[in-house]
Amino acid sequence: MPLKIDIKRCTSCGICMDRCPMDIIRLNEEGIPFQLYDECWSCGVCEEDCPEKALTLILPYLVR
Ligand code: SF4
Ligand code: SF4
Repeated sequence: MPLKIDIKRCTSCGICMDRCPMDIIRLNEEGIPFQLYDECWSCGVCEEDCPEKALTLILPYLVR
């Protein structure tokens, strides 16, 4: 699933990257998270564990 990042809130702490069970999140050169591979399980851990509530999972209509 695509990740939507609120760059005003994100502190580039890397917690989302560390917690992703699929290890598919990386930080770009500006320290903003992005998905390296399209193998997201939609588990929601990255969204749940972001201390700044800066990350939102964009779920497809049928999964919502
Ligand atoms: S956990 Fe939140 S604040 Fe930290 S890098 Fe990820 S999106 Fe940014
Ligand atoms: S929803 Fe789960 S698998 Fe997908 S990027 Fe976030 S932590 Fe990783």
